[in-house]
Parts: sequence; structure tokens; C-alpha cells
Amino acid sequence: MVATIKGVNYIKGKWHCNQCETTKQRHFYKYYTDVFKKTIVYCRKCIALGRMDNHNDIMITATEHCKSDANYKLSFHLTPQQQYASQRIVDALLCHQSLLLYAVTGSGKTEMIFEAIHRARKDGLNVAVVSPRIDVVVELSLRIQTAFESEMIDVLYKGQRQLYNGHFVIATIHQLMRFKRHFDFVIIDEVDAFPLSMDNDLISVVRAASTTQCCTVYMTATPSNRFINQFPKDQIIKLPARFHQHILPIPTFKYYKIYPYKKQLYFLKLLKRQLALKRYTLVFFHQIDIMETMYHIYKQYIAGLTYVHSQDALRLEKISELRKGKYNVIFTTTILERGFTMSHLDVIVIDSHKFKASALIQIAGRVGRKSDSPKGLVLYLHQGISVSMLKAKSEIKQMNTLARLRGWVND
Ligand SMILES: [Zn+2]
Repeated sequence: MVATIKGVNYIKGKWHCNQCETTKQRHFYKYYTDVFKKTIVYCRKCIALGRMDNHNDIMITATEHCKSDANYKLSFHLTPQQQYASQRIVDALLCHQSLLLYAVTGSGKTEMIFEAIHRARKDGLNVAVVSPRIDVVVELSLRIQTAFESEMIDVLYKGQRQLYNGHFVIATIHQLMRFKRHFDFVIIDEVDAFPLSMDNDLISVVRAASTTQCCTVYMTATPSNRFINQFPKDQIIKLPARFHQHILPIPTFKYYKIYPYKKQLYFLKLLKRQLALKRYTLVFFHQIDIMETMYHIYKQYIAGLTYVHSQDALRLEKISELRKGKYNVIFTTTILERGFTMSHLDVIVIDSHKFKASALIQIAGRVGRKSDSPKGLVLYLHQGISVSMLKAKSEIKQMNTLARLRGWVND
């Protein structure tokens, strides 16, 4: 059952946005268009999530509840940390609480939510697993659909059609606008992938799609302090260990000034050593122009060198070839800072003093994720150690200390 409404409605003399539910009139912008011969009103508050206006329709799914078995299969046993987290999420679901899952990169978060999803669906609760990022939604949907193979799961992102009644949904945050007071259990992965300023919008969109009794689980490796402060201490769970039970690689700092327009011996030797060691190397840059300039200098010396950035038309092809091992060294911007996983991978950051701590932690988090190569190089090249660099390193060390203290790692 689907109803159609406008993205923005005029109710009792006030404009109302159906995505973020704001009724503050200053959030609405009006302009006249000759094309439709009418005044268009749109919501500026949640514009970054996709425009809501009084012209285009959005679909709203009618809310019903129905039970399903929601049996799932796992091809391995959960680690002690995953079992602990899984139980904490089930507890939160039963007492309608919210949780912040502060889990290191590569902790195996997805499997931790299966038991709670199973319980929720058995009780007829509506479940949503969401992320701001399409690539995360695609990856989550593959893994969740494999585990819950007899469930009718709606996977919703750009252009995907809704097949079922929204009892079990995997979607981008933007797609939640199809549901009002609908979900009883919501899990948000990579919650910090949005800019900081959007924390509140994100929460209001999720709130509009959720019932008042909803249990919401927020998952991230790099929560902002502002986000952490929204949770009582007992509703924050730190998960410091990776699923393969090896500690996180610790970054090394090295003072090194880059001259983008000339060949620098140290950098060339560094890359050649990486090739000799048969390692794949991601080199992160803060600026696209510097990256491109250096690519043209070093490509003649380094076999299998390429570069990729968010405006690159061949971006998806390059990333897919990269996963197949076609390239040895990849110059990249922060588009590969999350979600990218590959064996035998090292990272080097150029001008690391210009990066935020969360980006540096995510970048370091690319290394050692596979159990066949849990170690690797994380090298931050800088021109003066920044507070962000220190913060990133100390957070990684703290997580390792905590993981050892709890006996959740083997080294
Ligand atoms: Zn809005």
C-alpha cells in the first residue's frame, strides 16, 4: 500500500516538510517559475538529503506490522567482542533504548546486528538498516540478504524499486522519507559520513520515520565529540577489536616536504620499496591538483601507478580494477578513505597535517583488515605534527589498549 503526497505540504497555514518534518517557516524558500506558472516552495533545511518541494510527489508506504521467522545463517562463529555487542544490541531493542556503537574499522559490525534483527522481525517489528552512503548500502544488502535468505527485504537507493511492504528495509537515509512512524528498530551505519553540521537533520529524518518506541543503533568508527555527547555513557559501547583479533596498525610520523613539480628521491625509493615488497599502496592527497602533478612525474618510474578522485569519470572502473590487483600504487583523495578493503595493503598520507583526525583514523583503518594480512604500514608524511595527527594516533593506541585489556585480541 503506497500513498502519494507532495514533499512539502501546506497544513493549517504553515509549510511542512515531509522529509525532515520541519515547520519553521524560515526553512522554506519560495520562488516563481514560468515553466509551471506557479510558486515553488522547497525545504532548505534538509536540502542536502534531496530536495523536498510542493511540486514533486513522494511515495509514502502505509504502515502495517507482520511477523516473519527471520532465521539467519552465519558461516563462522562470532568473536567474543561480537557476541558481547550482539547481546547489548538485543538488550537495547528490548528496552527501546538507543545505542552508539563506537567500533573500530574492520570490527565486523554487520554480523553483530543479526540476532537483534531476528528477534525484532519475529515479534513483527519493522526494521531498517540505513547509511548515508550508497556504497555502504549496497555492501550491507549483499551480506544481509545472504544471511537472511528467506526474508522479503526491500533494498532502497537511487532508482531501486520497492518490492515489499517495508517490514525489513536496507536503504540510504534519504529513502526513509517514504515511511512515517513506521520503524521500530533502526540501525544506522557510517553515521558520521555526513558533514558535522548535518547531525541534527539526520536525526530528525530518522525520527520522522521511526515510532516513538523505536530502538536506534548508530554505528561508526569515528564519531564526532558532538555526537558522542548526545548519548549517556551507558549507551555508548566501545568495540576496540577487529574481527580477526589482531590489533590496529599504528601510524608512523615522518617530516617530509613535498615539492610536487619535481622528482624526489626519497618518495620514489619509498614507492619502489613498496613494489619490491609486493604490497599494494594507497597514497592519500589533500589536493587533486598536487596529486595529478605528482602522478605525471612518477608514472614513468612506477609500474602500475594510477590515480582516482571523486570527479574522475572512470572512478568506478578504476576502483574495480584496483580490487582485482591491476594497480600497485594508487594516488587518491579521501574517496577511498572508507569502505575500501583489500589484502596486502599499506597507506601513505601526503601532507597529513592538513587532514582531520577522523579522516586519518579511517585511512589508517584501510590497513590490515584481512585476516591473511593483519599488519601493514601507515605512514603520515607531514610538515609539522598537527593536533589531528596526535589525536588520531592516540585514539588508535587507546583502542588497542582497551582490546588487550578485555582479551579481545591475540597479539
Ligand atoms: Zn526538510
